Amino acid sequence: MPVNATAAPPRASARRGSNLPRVGDYNQVVVLEAIRRSTDGLSRVEVAAATGLSPQAVSNICRRLLQTGLVEEAGKKVAGPGKPRTLLRLAPNGRFAVGVHLDPALTTFVVLDLVGRPVARSVRPLRPGLGPEQVLREVAEEVAALITSSGVDPERVVGLGVAAPGPVDTATGSLVRPPNLLGWDRVAIRDVLGEATGLSVLLDKDVVAAAVAELWTGAVGGTDSAVFFYIGTGVGAGLVLRGEVHRGTSGNAGEMGHLVTGPDGPPCACGQRGCVGEVCSPRTVVETAHLRGIGPLDPPEGLGGDDPDHRDVVGARFRRLCALAEDGHPGAQELLDDMARRFAKSAGDVVNLLDVDQVVFGGPLWEHLAPTFLRIVPEVLRGSVVTAPLHATTVRGTSLGADVAALGAASLVLDEAFSPRSATLLVAH
Ligand SMILES: [Zn+2]
Repeated sequence: MPVNATAAPPRASARRGSNLPRVGDYNQVVVLEAIRRSTDGLSRVEVAAATGLSPQAVSNICRRLLQTGLVEEAGKKVAGPGKPRTLLRLAPNGRFAVGVHLDPALTTFVVLDLVGRPVARSVRPLRPGLGPEQVLREVAEEVAALITSSGVDPERVVGLGVAAPGPVDTATGSLVRPPNLLGWDRVAIRDVLGEATGLSVLLDKDVVAAAVAELWTGAVGGTDSAVFFYIGTGVGAGLVLRGEVHRGTSGNAGEMGHLVTGPDGPPCACGQRGCVGEVCSPRTVVETAHLRGIGPLDPPEGLGGDDPDHRDVVGARFRRLCALAEDGHPGAQELLDDMARRFAKSAGDVVNLLDVDQVVFGGPLWEHLAPTFLRIVPEVLRGSVVTAPLHATTVRGTSLGADVAALGAASLVLDEAFSPRSATLLVAH
Protein backbone atom coordinates (compact mmCIF):
# COMPACT_ATOMS: atom_id res chain seq x y z
CA MET A 1 0.00 0.00 0.00
CA PRO A 2 1.46 3.37 -0.90
CA VAL A 3 1.89 6.08 1.69
CA ASN A 4 1.30 9.73 1.09
CA ALA A 5 4.10 11.78 -0.32
CA THR A 6 6.95 9.39 0.44
CA ALA A 7 6.08 6.22 -1.42
CA ALA A 8 8.88 4.86 -3.58
CA PRO A 9 8.96 1.88 -5.89
CA PRO A 10 9.17 -1.04 -3.46
CA ARG A 11 11.04 -3.24 -5.89
CA ALA A 12 13.47 -0.86 -7.46
CA SER A 13 16.05 -3.62 -7.73
CA ALA A 14 13.66 -5.61 -9.91
CA ARG A 15 13.55 -2.72 -12.35
CA ARG A 16 17.21 -2.97 -13.25
CA GLY A 17 17.96 -1.51 -16.61
CA SER A 18 14.51 -0.04 -16.94
CA ASN A 19 14.32 3.24 -18.72
CA LEU A 20 10.96 3.05 -20.37
CA PRO A 21 9.42 6.48 -20.08
CA ARG A 22 7.80 6.32 -16.67
CA VAL A 23 4.44 8.00 -16.31
CA GLY A 24 5.40 9.70 -13.09
CA ASP A 25 6.17 8.66 -9.56
CA TYR A 26 5.08 5.46 -7.94
CA ASN A 27 1.89 6.92 -6.47
CA GLN A 28 0.84 8.04 -9.91
CA VAL A 29 1.23 4.50 -11.21
CA VAL A 30 -0.81 3.23 -8.25
CA VAL A 31 -3.63 5.69 -9.04
CA LEU A 32 -3.55 4.71 -12.70
CA GLU A 33 -3.75 1.04 -11.74
CA ALA A 34 -6.78 1.66 -9.51
CA ILE A 35 -8.55 3.50 -12.33
CA ARG A 36 -7.58 0.79 -14.83
CA ARG A 37 -8.98 -1.98 -12.66
CA SER A 38 -12.39 -0.36 -12.31
CA THR A 39 -14.95 -1.37 -14.90
CA ASP A 40 -16.99 1.84 -15.03
CA GLY A 41 -14.43 4.40 -13.90
CA LEU A 42 -13.64 5.75 -10.43
CA SER A 43 -14.31 9.08 -8.76
CA ARG A 44 -11.43 10.83 -7.04
CA VAL A 45 -12.96 9.91 -3.67
CA GLU A 46 -13.03 6.26 -4.70
CA VAL A 47 -9.43 6.47 -5.93
CA ALA A 48 -8.39 7.82 -2.52
CA ALA A 49 -10.23 5.00 -0.78
CA ALA A 50 -8.75 2.36 -3.08
CA THR A 51 -5.15 3.56 -2.81
CA GLY A 52 -4.88 4.96 0.70
CA LEU A 53 -3.57 8.24 -0.73
CA SER A 54 -4.80 11.58 0.61
CA PRO A 55 -7.57 13.41 -1.30
CA GLN A 56 -5.10 16.21 -2.04
CA ALA A 57 -2.50 13.82 -3.46
CA VAL A 58 -5.17 12.07 -5.55
CA SER A 59 -6.45 15.39 -6.83
CA ASN A 60 -2.95 16.46 -7.93
CA ILE A 61 -2.16 13.13 -9.55
CA CYS A 62 -5.49 13.00 -11.39
CA ARG A 63 -4.90 16.49 -12.76
CA ARG A 64 -1.53 15.34 -14.14
CA LEU A 65 -3.07 12.17 -15.60
CA LEU A 66 -5.76 14.23 -17.36
CA GLN A 67 -3.19 16.71 -18.66
CA THR A 68 -0.99 13.98 -20.10
CA GLY A 69 -3.97 12.27 -21.74
CA LEU A 70 -3.69 9.01 -19.81
CA VAL A 71 -7.15 9.28 -18.24
CA GLU A 72 -10.35 10.96 -19.32
CA GLU A 73 -13.61 11.97 -17.68
CA ALA A 74 -16.36 9.38 -17.99
CA GLY A 75 -19.51 11.14 -16.82
CA LYS A 76 -20.85 11.82 -13.36
CA LYS A 77 -22.03 9.55 -10.63
CA VAL A 78 -24.50 10.46 -7.92
CA ALA A 79 -23.46 8.95 -4.60
CA GLY A 80 -25.52 10.12 -1.64
CA PRO A 81 -25.91 13.79 -0.77
CA GLY A 82 -23.60 16.39 -2.26
CA LYS A 83 -22.73 17.12 -5.82
CA PRO A 84 -22.27 14.29 -8.33
CA ARG A 85 -18.74 12.96 -8.57
CA THR A 86 -16.83 12.99 -11.84
CA LEU A 87 -15.69 9.54 -12.90
CA LEU A 88 -12.26 8.97 -14.40
CA ARG A 89 -11.27 6.14 -16.67
CA LEU A 90 -8.26 5.17 -18.74
CA ALA A 91 -8.12 7.03 -22.07
CA PRO A 92 -7.85 4.23 -24.66
CA ASN A 93 -5.94 6.43 -27.10
CA GLY A 94 -3.74 7.89 -24.37
CA ARG A 95 -0.83 5.59 -25.20
CA PHE A 96 -0.12 2.57 -27.39
CA ALA A 97 2.25 -0.39 -27.33
CA VAL A 98 3.51 -2.62 -30.12
CA GLY A 99 3.94 -6.35 -29.64
CA VAL A 100 5.86 -8.84 -31.78
CA HIS A 101 5.74 -12.59 -31.39
CA LEU A 102 8.76 -14.24 -32.97
CA ASP A 103 7.41 -17.70 -33.58
CA PRO A 104 9.26 -20.44 -35.47
CA ALA A 105 6.48 -20.41 -38.08
CA LEU A 106 5.02 -16.91 -38.14
CA THR A 107 5.85 -13.49 -36.82
CA THR A 108 2.75 -11.74 -35.50
CA PHE A 109 2.54 -7.98 -34.90
CA VAL A 110 -0.08 -6.09 -32.91
CA VAL A 111 -0.66 -2.53 -31.73
CA LEU A 112 -2.57 -2.30 -28.45
CA ASP A 113 -4.24 0.77 -27.02
CA LEU A 114 -3.92 1.71 -23.38
CA VAL A 115 -6.84 -0.47 -22.30
CA GLY A 116 -5.28 -3.46 -24.02
CA ARG A 117 -7.44 -3.57 -27.13
CA PRO A 118 -5.76 -4.43 -30.42
CA VAL A 119 -6.06 -1.57 -32.92
CA ALA A 120 -3.88 -3.12 -35.64
CA ARG A 121 -2.47 -6.51 -36.51
CA SER A 122 -0.34 -8.15 -39.17
CA VAL A 123 1.36 -11.47 -39.76
CA ARG A 124 4.50 -12.37 -41.66
CA PRO A 125 5.87 -15.84 -42.27
CA LEU A 126 9.38 -16.32 -40.94
CA ARG A 127 10.91 -17.10 -44.31
CA PRO A 128 13.21 -20.09 -44.21
CA GLY A 129 16.80 -19.38 -45.10
CA LEU A 130 16.86 -15.83 -43.78
CA GLY A 131 19.42 -15.05 -41.12
CA PRO A 132 18.38 -13.38 -37.85
CA GLU A 133 19.80 -10.02 -38.95
CA GLN A 134 17.63 -9.98 -42.06
CA VAL A 135 14.58 -11.15 -40.09
CA LEU A 136 15.08 -8.41 -37.49
CA ARG A 137 15.44 -5.82 -40.25
CA GLU A 138 12.11 -6.96 -41.69
CA VAL A 139 10.54 -6.97 -38.22
CA ALA A 140 11.63 -3.36 -37.69
CA GLU A 141 10.22 -2.39 -41.08
CA GLU A 142 6.92 -4.07 -40.33
CA VAL A 143 6.69 -2.38 -36.91
CA ALA A 144 7.13 1.02 -38.57
CA ALA A 145 4.64 0.15 -41.32
CA LEU A 146 2.04 -1.10 -38.84
CA ILE A 147 2.30 2.03 -36.68
CA THR A 148 1.82 4.14 -39.81
CA SER A 149 -1.11 2.14 -41.18
CA SER A 150 -2.80 1.99 -37.76
CA GLY A 151 -3.03 5.78 -37.73
CA VAL A 152 -1.88 6.04 -34.11
CA ASP A 153 0.27 8.99 -33.10
CA PRO A 154 3.86 7.62 -33.08
CA GLU A 155 4.60 9.98 -30.18
CA ARG A 156 2.12 8.00 -28.12
CA VAL A 157 3.77 4.61 -28.75
CA VAL A 158 5.40 3.73 -25.43
CA GLY A 159 7.54 0.84 -26.59
CA LEU A 160 7.95 -2.45 -28.36
CA GLY A 161 7.55 -5.81 -26.64
CA VAL A 162 9.04 -8.96 -28.12
CA ALA A 163 7.92 -12.46 -27.17
CA ALA A 164 10.13 -15.34 -28.29
CA PRO A 165 10.72 -18.98 -27.49
CA GLY A 166 13.22 -19.24 -24.66
CA PRO A 167 15.58 -19.48 -23.05
CA VAL A 168 16.18 -15.75 -22.74
CA ASP A 169 19.33 -14.03 -21.49
CA THR A 170 18.09 -11.05 -19.56
CA ALA A 171 21.48 -9.36 -19.37
CA THR A 172 22.03 -9.15 -23.12
CA GLY A 173 18.45 -9.12 -24.42
CA SER A 174 19.05 -12.21 -26.48
CA LEU A 175 18.06 -15.86 -26.71
CA VAL A 176 20.40 -18.61 -25.62
CA ARG A 177 20.48 -21.68 -27.83
CA PRO A 178 16.71 -21.59 -28.40
CA PRO A 179 15.79 -25.10 -29.57
CA ASN A 180 12.89 -23.75 -31.62
CA LEU A 181 14.72 -20.86 -33.28
CA LEU A 182 17.91 -22.34 -34.65
CA GLY A 183 20.58 -19.81 -35.55
CA TRP A 184 19.35 -17.25 -33.01
CA ASP A 185 21.85 -18.06 -30.27
CA ARG A 186 23.02 -14.82 -28.61
CA VAL A 187 21.57 -12.57 -31.31
CA ALA A 188 21.11 -9.17 -29.61
CA ILE A 189 17.38 -8.91 -30.43
CA ARG A 190 16.70 -6.12 -27.94
CA ASP A 191 19.53 -3.85 -29.04
CA VAL A 192 19.11 -4.47 -32.76
CA LEU A 193 15.37 -3.75 -32.67
CA GLY A 194 15.84 -0.80 -30.33
CA GLU A 195 18.35 0.69 -32.75
CA ALA A 196 16.25 -0.01 -35.83
CA THR A 197 12.92 1.23 -34.45
CA GLY A 198 13.98 3.92 -32.00
CA LEU A 199 11.60 2.38 -29.48
CA SER A 200 12.19 1.04 -25.98
CA VAL A 201 12.29 -2.73 -26.35
CA LEU A 202 11.38 -5.44 -23.85
CA LEU A 203 12.03 -9.13 -24.45
CA ASP A 204 10.42 -12.03 -22.64
CA LYS A 205 9.62 -15.65 -23.25
CA ASP A 206 6.40 -16.21 -25.17
CA VAL A 207 4.75 -18.06 -22.27
CA VAL A 208 5.63 -15.26 -19.87
CA ALA A 209 4.17 -12.72 -22.31
CA ALA A 210 1.01 -14.80 -22.61
CA ALA A 211 0.66 -14.82 -18.82
CA VAL A 212 1.10 -11.03 -18.72
CA ALA A 213 -1.62 -10.69 -21.38
CA GLU A 214 -4.02 -12.74 -19.24
CA LEU A 215 -3.26 -10.51 -16.27
CA TRP A 216 -3.35 -7.21 -18.16
CA THR A 217 -6.70 -7.96 -19.79
CA GLY A 218 -8.13 -9.01 -16.45
CA ALA A 219 -8.82 -12.60 -17.55
CA VAL A 220 -6.68 -13.63 -14.59
CA GLY A 221 -7.61 -11.50 -11.59
CA GLY A 222 -5.35 -9.44 -9.38
CA THR A 223 -4.97 -12.06 -6.65
CA ASP A 224 -5.43 -15.20 -8.74
CA SER A 225 -2.86 -17.92 -9.30
CA ALA A 226 -2.81 -19.46 -12.75
CA VAL A 227 -0.72 -21.53 -15.12
CA PHE A 228 -0.80 -20.70 -18.81
CA PHE A 229 0.08 -23.78 -20.85
CA TYR A 230 1.35 -22.86 -24.29
CA ILE A 231 1.21 -25.59 -26.90
CA GLY A 232 3.00 -24.97 -30.17
CA THR A 233 6.21 -26.26 -31.68
CA GLY A 234 7.22 -26.75 -28.05
CA VAL A 235 5.33 -26.69 -24.77
CA GLY A 236 5.85 -24.24 -21.93
CA ALA A 237 4.18 -22.79 -18.88
CA GLY A 238 3.64 -19.14 -17.92
CA LEU A 239 3.11 -18.70 -14.20
CA VAL A 240 0.98 -16.19 -12.33
CA LEU A 241 1.23 -16.49 -8.56
CA ARG A 242 -1.17 -14.37 -6.52
CA GLY A 243 -1.51 -11.80 -9.26
CA GLU A 244 2.21 -11.57 -10.09
CA VAL A 245 3.89 -13.08 -13.11
CA HIS A 246 6.61 -15.38 -11.82
CA ARG A 247 9.71 -15.16 -14.00
CA GLY A 248 12.19 -17.01 -11.80
CA THR A 249 15.80 -15.96 -11.26
CA SER A 250 16.63 -15.31 -14.90
CA GLY A 251 13.28 -14.91 -16.64
CA ASN A 252 13.14 -18.55 -17.63
CA ALA A 253 10.65 -20.13 -15.21
CA GLY A 254 8.15 -22.49 -16.74
CA GLU A 255 10.35 -24.90 -18.71
CA MET A 256 8.21 -28.01 -18.37
CA GLY A 257 9.18 -29.98 -21.48
CA HIS A 258 11.01 -32.71 -19.58
CA LEU A 259 8.29 -33.55 -17.07
CA VAL A 260 7.76 -37.28 -17.52
CA THR A 261 4.25 -38.35 -18.49
CA GLY A 262 4.90 -42.07 -18.07
CA PRO A 263 7.56 -44.74 -18.49
CA ASP A 264 6.78 -45.37 -22.14
CA GLY A 265 6.86 -42.97 -25.04
CA PRO A 266 9.60 -41.98 -27.42
CA PRO A 267 13.10 -41.25 -26.16
CA CYS A 268 13.96 -37.62 -25.50
CA ALA A 269 17.32 -35.93 -26.06
CA CYS A 270 17.56 -35.58 -22.25
CA GLY A 271 17.88 -39.37 -21.88
CA GLN A 272 14.43 -40.05 -20.45
CA ARG A 273 11.36 -41.47 -22.13
CA GLY A 274 7.89 -39.97 -22.15
CA CYS A 275 8.86 -36.31 -21.64
CA VAL A 276 5.77 -34.15 -22.18
CA GLY A 277 7.56 -31.88 -24.65
CA GLU A 278 8.38 -34.92 -26.77
CA VAL A 279 5.15 -36.94 -26.53
CA CYS A 280 2.97 -33.84 -27.03
CA SER A 281 5.00 -32.38 -29.88
CA PRO A 282 3.05 -32.25 -33.14
CA ARG A 283 5.93 -34.03 -34.87
CA THR A 284 5.70 -37.06 -32.56
CA VAL A 285 1.92 -37.21 -32.79
CA VAL A 286 1.83 -37.14 -36.61
CA GLU A 287 4.62 -39.73 -36.72
CA THR A 288 2.56 -42.02 -34.51
CA ALA A 289 -0.46 -41.42 -36.73
CA HIS A 290 1.64 -42.43 -39.72
CA LEU A 291 2.86 -45.61 -38.00
CA ARG A 292 -0.72 -46.54 -37.14
CA GLY A 293 -1.88 -45.97 -40.69
CA ILE A 294 -4.15 -43.07 -39.73
CA GLY A 295 -4.63 -40.73 -42.62
CA PRO A 296 -3.74 -39.78 -45.19
CA LEU A 297 -2.37 -36.64 -43.57
CA ASP A 298 -0.74 -35.36 -46.71
CA PRO A 299 0.11 -31.66 -46.57
CA PRO A 300 -0.75 -29.34 -49.45
CA GLU A 301 1.40 -29.80 -52.53
CA GLY A 302 4.84 -28.24 -52.34
CA LEU A 303 4.68 -27.28 -48.66
CA GLY A 304 8.09 -27.57 -47.03
CA GLY A 305 9.65 -29.31 -50.04
CA ASP A 306 10.38 -32.98 -49.41
CA ASP A 307 11.29 -32.56 -45.74
CA PRO A 308 8.75 -34.48 -43.61
CA ASP A 309 10.06 -32.75 -40.47
CA HIS A 310 9.55 -29.26 -41.87
CA ARG A 311 7.43 -27.39 -39.33
CA ASP A 312 4.89 -26.28 -41.94
CA VAL A 313 4.46 -29.88 -43.08
CA VAL A 314 4.14 -31.10 -39.49
CA GLY A 315 1.69 -28.31 -38.67
CA ALA A 316 -0.47 -29.06 -41.70
CA ARG A 317 -0.46 -32.80 -40.93
CA PHE A 318 -1.35 -32.15 -37.30
CA ARG A 319 -4.29 -29.95 -38.28
CA ARG A 320 -5.44 -32.65 -40.71
CA LEU A 321 -5.27 -35.20 -37.88
CA CYS A 322 -7.39 -32.91 -35.67
CA ALA A 323 -9.90 -32.53 -38.50
CA LEU A 324 -10.12 -36.33 -38.88
CA ALA A 325 -10.78 -36.65 -35.15
CA GLU A 326 -13.50 -34.05 -35.38
CA ASP A 327 -15.08 -36.02 -38.23
CA GLY A 328 -15.27 -39.05 -35.95
CA HIS A 329 -12.19 -41.02 -37.02
CA PRO A 330 -11.69 -43.26 -33.97
CA GLY A 331 -7.94 -43.75 -34.44
CA ALA A 332 -7.30 -40.04 -34.78
CA GLN A 333 -9.42 -39.25 -31.75
CA GLU A 334 -7.70 -41.94 -29.70
CA LEU A 335 -4.34 -40.40 -30.53
CA LEU A 336 -5.47 -36.92 -29.44
CA ASP A 337 -7.09 -38.35 -26.31
CA ASP A 338 -3.77 -39.98 -25.43
CA MET A 339 -1.95 -36.68 -26.02
CA ALA A 340 -4.44 -34.86 -23.79
CA ARG A 341 -4.15 -37.47 -21.03
CA ARG A 342 -0.38 -37.26 -21.08
CA PHE A 343 -0.43 -33.49 -21.05
CA ALA A 344 -2.95 -33.57 -18.21
CA LYS A 345 -0.55 -35.71 -16.15
CA SER A 346 2.10 -32.99 -16.44
CA ALA A 347 -0.46 -30.23 -15.94
CA GLY A 348 -1.48 -31.94 -12.69
CA ASP A 349 2.15 -32.05 -11.55
CA VAL A 350 2.51 -28.31 -12.18
CA VAL A 351 -0.82 -27.50 -10.50
CA ASN A 352 0.17 -29.54 -7.46
CA LEU A 353 3.60 -27.94 -7.27
CA LEU A 354 2.22 -24.39 -7.34
CA ASP A 355 -1.30 -24.73 -5.88
CA VAL A 356 -2.92 -22.62 -8.58
CA ASP A 357 -6.65 -22.32 -9.11
CA GLN A 358 -6.71 -21.66 -12.86
CA VAL A 359 -5.37 -23.55 -15.83
CA VAL A 360 -5.39 -21.65 -19.13
CA PHE A 361 -4.43 -23.13 -22.51
CA GLY A 362 -3.31 -21.33 -25.62
CA GLY A 363 -0.90 -21.30 -28.54
CA PRO A 364 -1.14 -21.83 -32.27
CA LEU A 365 -2.52 -25.37 -32.01
CA TRP A 366 -4.99 -24.70 -29.24
CA GLU A 367 -8.11 -24.15 -31.33
CA HIS A 368 -7.65 -27.62 -32.83
CA LEU A 369 -6.96 -29.25 -29.47
CA ALA A 370 -9.63 -27.49 -27.44
CA PRO A 371 -12.50 -30.00 -27.86
CA THR A 372 -10.29 -32.92 -26.77
CA PHE A 373 -8.33 -31.13 -24.05
CA LEU A 374 -11.37 -29.47 -22.46
CA ARG A 375 -13.06 -32.89 -22.27
CA ILE A 376 -10.09 -34.76 -20.81
CA VAL A 377 -7.89 -32.38 -18.80
CA PRO A 378 -10.51 -31.33 -16.19
CA GLU A 379 -11.41 -34.97 -15.62
CA VAL A 380 -7.77 -36.01 -15.11
CA LEU A 381 -7.10 -33.02 -12.83
CA ARG A 382 -10.08 -33.88 -10.66
CA GLY A 383 -8.36 -37.17 -9.90
CA SER A 384 -4.80 -35.91 -9.53
CA VAL A 385 -4.90 -32.45 -7.94
CA VAL A 386 -4.41 -32.79 -4.20
CA THR A 387 -6.21 -29.52 -3.40
CA ALA A 388 -9.40 -30.71 -5.13
CA PRO A 389 -11.26 -30.99 -1.78
CA LEU A 390 -10.19 -27.45 -0.87
CA HIS A 391 -10.77 -25.38 -3.99
CA ALA A 392 -11.76 -25.70 -7.61
CA THR A 393 -9.20 -25.61 -10.39
CA THR A 394 -10.80 -24.17 -13.49
CA VAL A 395 -9.62 -25.21 -16.95
CA ARG A 396 -10.24 -23.00 -19.98
CA GLY A 397 -8.76 -21.85 -23.25
CA THR A 398 -7.44 -18.33 -23.53
CA SER A 399 -10.02 -15.78 -24.59
CA LEU A 400 -7.29 -13.90 -26.44
CA GLY A 401 -7.05 -16.32 -29.36
CA ALA A 402 -4.04 -17.39 -31.36
CA ASP A 403 -2.39 -13.97 -31.02
CA VAL A 404 -2.05 -14.30 -27.25
CA ALA A 405 1.77 -14.17 -27.28
CA ALA A 406 1.86 -11.07 -29.53
CA LEU A 407 -0.81 -9.42 -27.38
CA GLY A 408 1.30 -10.43 -24.41
CA ALA A 409 4.40 -8.88 -25.94
CA ALA A 410 2.60 -5.53 -26.18
CA SER A 411 1.16 -6.06 -22.70
CA LEU A 412 4.73 -6.35 -21.37
CA VAL A 413 5.22 -2.72 -22.36
CA LEU A 414 1.92 -1.53 -20.87
CA ASP A 415 2.58 -3.53 -17.72
CA GLU A 416 6.07 -2.11 -17.32
CA ALA A 417 5.04 1.47 -17.93
CA PHE A 418 1.68 1.54 -16.18
CA SER A 419 1.52 -1.17 -13.52
CA PRO A 420 2.95 -0.97 -10.01
CA ARG A 421 3.54 -4.72 -10.04
CA SER A 422 5.84 -4.73 -13.05
CA ALA A 423 9.33 -6.09 -12.76
CA THR A 424 10.50 -6.06 -16.31
CA LEU A 425 13.85 -7.58 -17.00
CA LEU A 426 14.98 -6.28 -20.34
CA VAL A 427 14.89 -2.72 -21.50
CA ALA A 428 16.99 -0.73 -23.94
CA HIS A 429 17.03 2.75 -25.40
ZN1 LIG B 1 13.31 -34.94 -21.91
